[in-house]
Amino acid sequence: MRILVCGGAGYIGSHMVKILNSQGHTVTIFDNLSTGHAQAAPAAQLFAGDLLDKESLARLFKAHNFEAVMHFSAKSLVGESMTNPSAYYTNNVIGTINLLDAMQAHQVHRFIFSSSAAIFGPPQQKTINEEHPCRPINPYGRTKLMVEHILKDYHHAYGIRSVSLRYFNAAGADPEGKLGESHTPETHLIPNILKSLINGHGGLKIFGNSYETPDGTCIRDYIHINDLCSAHLLALNFLDNNDGVFGFNLGNGNGFSILEVIAAAEQVTGHKIKFEYAPPREGDPARLVADSSLTRRLLGWKTQYTGIEEIISTAWNWHQKPRY
Ligand code: UDP
Repeated sequence: MRILVCGGAGYIGSHMVKILNSQGHTVTIFDNLSTGHAQAAPAAQLFAGDLLDKESLARLFKAHNFEAVMHFSAKSLVGESMTNPSAYYTNNVIGTINLLDAMQAHQVHRFIFSSSAAIFGPPQQKTINEEHPCRPINPYGRTKLMVEHILKDYHHAYGIRSVSLRYFNAAGADPEGKLGESHTPETHLIPNILKSLINGHGGLKIFGNSYETPDGTCIRDYIHINDLCSAHLLALNFLDNNDGVFGFNLGNGNGFSILEVIAAAEQVTGHKIKFEYAPPREGDPARLVADSSLTRRLLGWKTQYTGIEEIISTAWNWHQKPRY
């Protein structure tokens, strides 16, 4: 299939491109390289441009006869979205509208959207399924939910079929060690834990220790990047036989507190990890754990990496020899 991958030089998008290439798809990457890395994308496939530049998008769609679009380009930091919502609404909402309009103009009708657990807001149950109310508590989550609403209207009016995949916490790295997670500044927990070991200066901070969780630190559902990617392939196939707008949750269904993740990282690396407590980060819910049974049932999704140690060990492999 001829697939456009927006954000294909970023953390999740680059892993997706590698898998699509290995399966023989014809992939074009569109990325503004604001947080992505040119080194993470095969040069011949990379088209540098911004979703806010409609002319660049028009040229891209004119030059390729895309059959489907996967959209990973977004600003994705909860804390930053609280202090700079303008950047989030502009990039994540307006950018996506521009992309959908280009799809509509060129008769491309299959769309896989990187959504987020942040659309749900504070959990009403232990695990979050697709029926859970959507009450995001930060601008980042609101941008993702807005796009999910837009997708309903674009299906109704223009026939664009879509699957929104609500990621819980993407983690880990390419098991071959060629790709991994590299952000500047790094804000995510697992890379920060591993980098605190590698730089030798420690400096790891735990944001908040009085949440309503058993050990007081936030609980998240960490899901391996390749498992996330496999769901995208299944979602694409699903759209062949299902005309509509769908949303699926992607997580392992197991929650780990920050202290538990640190203990698992100590197991994997064999090193003691030092940390200090810092005030909670604005916009962080106490607990986010997925119920992905619908995804497993309807898409036939199976996760390969179910243990937190396994996930951390692929990340540890990358962080010891990062290529970018
Ligand atoms: N966190 C932390 N120290 C860090 C990075 C993250 O304590 O250096 C916490 C963060 O506040 C949240 C959890 O770890 O409770 C997961 O954060 P991350 O940024 O990895 O993912 P998010 O859940 O925000 O998407």
